[in-house]
Amino acid sequence: MPARLIVHGGAWRIPPEEHADHLQGVEAAARAGWALLMEGASALDVVEKAVMLLEDDPTFDAGTGSVLNCLGEIEMDAIIMDGRTLEMGAVAAVQGIQNPVRLARLVLEDTDHNMLVGQGAHDFARLKGMRFTPAAALTVPREVKRFMAFQAQPPTKSAESFTAAASGGTVGAVALDNSGNIAVATSTGGTAFSLPGRVGDSPLVGSGAYADNETGGASLTGHGEKIMQVVLAKHATDLIRLGKSAQEAADASIAYLYQRVEGYGGLIVVDKFGGLGFAHNTPHMAVAWVDETGALHTYIAPPA
Ligand code: ASP
Repeated sequence: MPARLIVHGGAWRIPPEEHADHLQGVEAAARAGWALLMEGASALDVVEKAVMLLEDDPTFDAGTGSVLNCLGEIEMDAIIMDGRTLEMGAVAAVQGIQNPVRLARLVLEDTDHNMLVGQGAHDFARLKGMRFTPAAALTVPREVKRFMAFQAQPPTKSAESFTAAASGGTVGAVALDNSGNIAVATSTGGTAFSLPGRVGDSPLVGSGAYADNETGGASLTGHGEKIMQVVLAKHATDLIRLGKSAQEAADASIAYLYQRVEGYGGLIVVDKFGGLGFAHNTPHMAVAWVDETGALHTYIAPPA
């Protein structure tokens, strides 16, 4: 089975002056992930590495560069899932963690649980010897400015965040390795100016991510409250089971998100046959992928 990789950096109205950074960020993650796949790394290792790179890039709303909640704090969510065994690890509402997806991987590898949140997740991170990062080091000036603007005039409806110029930049990756194993990872700082303790779709299995060797893998981004109502990552992979290709499943999932709950977002999909797909109903979505010839492609907006 030939390897495949696709990554995303969020679906929303990305300001034009930020397009170059978003494209560069997803391209760098796809390039690094692909190099690992070519060295024979597992899909699980590859999605973890690609998402860590995106978390470390301050362009995106994940890890460094995460949005601030209404208290001016960062709370992050992440998930990683192994399509071979359906094992998964997730963390939610974590603070001071440089790479939430790494912590999610440790939950997968070293606990009997699937998800840890808040203080329990922090205690586990300390137990595993993870280093903590001061909130100031994860906070970028762009998000301080956004927080100040929201404080002066709070956002009215969170759906608008994804269609108006507000915030976004959740990251994700789906890989298929040479052994036919599929893995997915998604990581986010959530939505700007949210209530503390708010958790979106991203760390929820079947909503923000799903991977199953028998079908495929999907990573979501967009309006988390809506995405979780329709459990969209599992919906997308179920469509593959019904015979749809990765691209058909992506298109149908976004159509369903809007038709059923008027949701906005985007997703990337890999099917078990090696098909790749992505779709979004937001103005933009940053995506990078490697095709069957090994060529790297990037995308941010539909052709004008
Ligand atoms: N889906 C993420 C959340 O609701 C946000 C995003 O993708 O921009 O937390």
